[in-house]
Amino acid sequence: METAFLIVWYVMVFIFGTVIFSFLNVVIYRTPQKLSPAKGRSFCPKCHHTLGPLDLVPLFSWVFLRGKCRYCKAPISGRYPLVEAIGGCSALLSSFMYFDPALPTPLGAGRAGLAFFMCAILTVIAFIDWDTMTIYDSTNVIVALAGVVSYFLFDDISWLDRLIGVFVISLPMYLLVLWKEGAFGGGDIKLFAALGVFLGWKLNLLTFFIAVVTGGLYAGILLSKKKKKRNEHFAFGPFICPAAVIVMFFGRQMIAWYLEYLGF
Ligand SMILES: [Zn+2]
Repeated sequence: METAFLIVWYVMVFIFGTVIFSFLNVVIYRTPQKLSPAKGRSFCPKCHHTLGPLDLVPLFSWVFLRGKCRYCKAPISGRYPLVEAIGGCSALLSSFMYFDPALPTPLGAGRAGLAFFMCAILTVIAFIDWDTMTIYDSTNVIVALAGVVSYFLFDDISWLDRLIGVFVISLPMYLLVLWKEGAFGGGDIKLFAALGVFLGWKLNLLTFFIAVVTGGLYAGILLSKKKKKRNEHFAFGPFICPAAVIVMFFGRQMIAWYLEYLGF
């Protein structure tokens, strides 16, 4: 009974995540074009045929249509099911880490909800930055506001930790940009300031570390394949955002392990 209940719960949570992120696909696609995500039906970008309910089932539509438009057979980007799968996994992880369905509490629900919300906004930021090399002020403000809310749900991070978190990465990045123009984008700097409110300074440092290592690896691969020139820029958001999600879920344990390893 218990196991069956848990399986049903986690399947429902996964489906919930794919449905919400299916809508985020629309947000990611339309926001840079200054179109409202809420207005108008979804359509095939190639043949402009309006999509029916059967074309819009998260994950399943793409799999059953084998990645092609039902009407014109144009290939549909694997990006759409990818974002939906990320949504399902985000919801699963948020519930698994913070919300025990057998023992529901308001605090657990609040933490899981906020964690899932952060996954959502960071996914939007990462993909829009990947597409357009732009991180909007509006999405950074949403991250900062989520940070304010998080103080009431994650009180292991004090206001002072969070205030230091705003500047711990953003200020050195800003000074670096003054010294060497274009070292980082303004959006990256503001994103780290906003993440500081949510994560506090320790977790924000860890996020920066993971983002720089993964972004550096990616840059190295591009350089070795000669796909980019040495001075060419690439979007940093797609590395900052996943790093922030990993740190949000596991950063506290990672820091504890590291301090133990050092002998503290
Ligand atoms: Zn089509």
